[in-house]
Amino acid sequence: LTRENIPPPAKYGGRHTVTLIPGDGIGPELLNHVREVFRFSCVPVDFEVVHVNSALETDDDMNNAITAIRRNGVALKGNIETKHTLPPSVKSRNNVLRTSLDLFANVMHCQSLPGVQTRHKNIDIMIIRENTEGEYSSLEHESVSGVVECLKIITRNNSLRIADYAFRLAREQGRQRVTAVHKANIMKLGDGLFLQCCREVASGYPDITFDSMIVDNTTMQLVSKPQQFDVMVMPNLYGNVVSNVCAGLVGGPGLVPGANYGQVYAVFETATRNTGKSIADRNIANPTAMLLASCMMLDHLKLNGYASLIRNAVLTTMNETRLHTADLGGQGTTSEVVQSVMRVIQSKGQLISEL
Ligand code: ADP
Ligand code: MG
Repeated sequence: LTRENIPPPAKYGGRHTVTLIPGDGIGPELLNHVREVFRFSCVPVDFEVVHVNSALETDDDMNNAITAIRRNGVALKGNIETKHTLPPSVKSRNNVLRTSLDLFANVMHCQSLPGVQTRHKNIDIMIIRENTEGEYSSLEHESVSGVVECLKIITRNNSLRIADYAFRLAREQGRQRVTAVHKANIMKLGDGLFLQCCREVASGYPDITFDSMIVDNTTMQLVSKPQQFDVMVMPNLYGNVVSNVCAGLVGGPGLVPGANYGQVYAVFETATRNTGKSIADRNIANPTAMLLASCMMLDHLKLNGYASLIRNAVLTTMNETRLHTADLGGQGTTSEVVQSVMRVIQSKGQLISEL
């Protein structure tokens, strides 16, 4: 998405190889639909499928997945369930993947879709979330019985690079304003450092307005007047909460794609990273978020023609209320949505040969 992250060059005969991690819950079925749509659209991408078994305590599966991403540079994934019954020493696989590959920037573009009825209209927010540290350091211990210490790590380096990512993205995308979200009134040192780094970076971008907002006020402002926000940058946990609020504002977790970028690697998934266990294998999940994530991936690979073809077909399909899945209050099935997406692609079929 920015100059910093260079996509790998096309390999064999102009085709790319991408690591595909099906994950748990609705991940496998949604990713099968992505593959179906890619095949149908003659997208020059081959998938290397790597399964991660979330029930195992060993790291072998994860190490294979990470090695595969290091090889291919790019991955598309479903969420890997974090089993709370496993001992606390077993970290979230999703988190291990992001930190091992140093995918420091989580990017989510939250935009109102014309065909989806929501309380608020005209939302167009980019959320840039620090993705490797903060409250997700997995450094917890029970110092004495009944007292748990849980460390939140904020570093100058990671704060500067996420702030810089946000400002660079804002400039590239012709955005006006970056808002840093924090709680520096309480976490004076930790969030104070994050905020200070954002201020420093902002001074190098005089063309972009910088402001800041305390996280509690931010969530209140978001549910009352979300149109006021443009680009937002924040530490890890606030990013998790705020991105879920924003997904809810534009229609829910089934609609919004997300990306994790580092200097070298990029991993694409749904923005709110849900497993969706209760709706798995019932043909009722909304495939939009995962299909749009695959489009972000195609843009990253510079296959922009294919990305727009599929993205436009998905957005056109979402304009048809009768195709809406249950999360949007409709009765459409996952496969009906996907069939419609392919029909729209077919109607533009002559374009495929020109891509
Ligand atoms: P988590 O993975 O954090 O446990 P869930 O999987 O419970 O989160 O997801 C939160 C809610 O969002 C659930 O009600 C789930 O059914 C719903 N949801 C998530 N993804 C989709 C989707 N693609 N389509 C429809 N509903 C979804
Ligand atoms: Mg969740």
